[in-house]
Amino acid sequence: MSNQDVKCHVQTCKYNDNNRTCTLHDIVVGSSGAQAHDKASTQCDSFQEN
Ligand code: SF4
Repeated sequence: MSNQDVKCHVQTCKYNDNNRTCTLHDIVVGSSGAQAHDKASTQCDSFQEN
């Protein structure tokens, strides 16, 4: 069952259904630095390459 709340464009992730939807029930979003101040500083820690 897909997670209807998380749309994601990372199609190289094994949890992406290639219809821009994450199939996990929950994800963890981390920060690439101590504190994020923009979108580029955030990252999905649940990502797994296909
Ligand atoms: S785990 Fe993260 S990167 Fe992978 S599909 Fe879900 S939201 Fe996207």
